[in-house]
Amino acid sequence: MLKYENLLKNLRAYKSIASDVLSGNLSHSYLLISDDNEVKQNLSILILCRIFCEKKDKFPCLSCPECKKIINNNHSDIHYYSGRINVEDVSKIIEASTLKPYSTDKNIFVITDLGQMNAAAQNKMLKTLEEPQKGVTFLMFSHDESMVLATVKSRSQVYFVENFSAFEIEKELKLQYSQESYDSIAIASAICGGKLDTAVKYLNDDEFKDLYNLVFEIINNMQKSPDILEYQIKVESHKKRLKEFLEIFYIAIRDIMVIKSSSTDIVLCKNRINDIMNAEKSVSLKAGSNILDLIQRMQQRLYYNGNPASVIDELLFSYLEVKALCR
Ligand SMILES: [Zn+2]
Repeated sequence: MLKYENLLKNLRAYKSIASDVLSGNLSHSYLLISDDNEVKQNLSILILCRIFCEKKDKFPCLSCPECKKIINNNHSDIHYYSGRINVEDVSKIIEASTLKPYSTDKNIFVITDLGQMNAAAQNKMLKTLEEPQKGVTFLMFSHDESMVLATVKSRSQVYFVENFSAFEIEKELKLQYSQESYDSIAIASAICGGKLDTAVKYLNDDEFKDLYNLVFEIINNMQKSPDILEYQIKVESHKKRLKEFLEIFYIAIRDIMVIKSSSTDIVLCKNRINDIMNAEKSVSLKAGSNILDLIQRMQQRLYYNGNPASVIDELLFSYLEVKALCR
């Protein structure tokens, strides 16, 4: 099985290219815009397998000899170019594109980030993109559309790869990680902004887990103003990750309100359900809603380059104040 196969199969870009393959109308040049590295890497495998798979179906089998060669990254008719690409590299690409394929009737050139190819090099590609040798297709990715020359775009079929929902990402990551990571997956999916690579980064990131635990430490143990100093220091030690800290804080308070008003099913921080039920007693609905407003204000202030230390101060002081006032 390919990573994220279920999600990638439903992307418009995949469906459209797969239909070109099946109707024998593979284009000379495709440009896919995505800033998600996990998507780029695995979507390119899925598309390449669809191009070469022996089984002519909407989806590649991922198990025939052709598919296996692609998954193991040793297909002789696929040529990868990554990193910075200059004019001399393009000359080599053009030369390679005039050679006959080794084992099939196609030669596919995968450029993993066109954004890393400077304007002169992109210009040099134009003629080849327009009239390549028979059987040649360029499968190009870029993290940012603005890094690609308009003349390259006009010679390519361009697809913007849409981001996924938190729910889709959570479901897909659960297929790949063990049960004990389920709670981290829920949180990572909720705050990754629809990007698989960001969610995966969080899952392999110990500081992220520390931030998560710290949020619950504050909710459970920070009861009176003399307690604030201890947590100020702890949060400040993560001040470079304050944005994520605020996002996790938001999710935890949201969970407390969810428990108050409905069921436990839609709680995200499932491994902290006891803490949440406990906190629920001391945080009224009105306080919860005011705390969510407070966190959003602090997020905005941070976004506009607010001083992290003052954001942490106001967050912790106001949190206790709001909790007390809205009892
Ligand atoms: Zn296959």
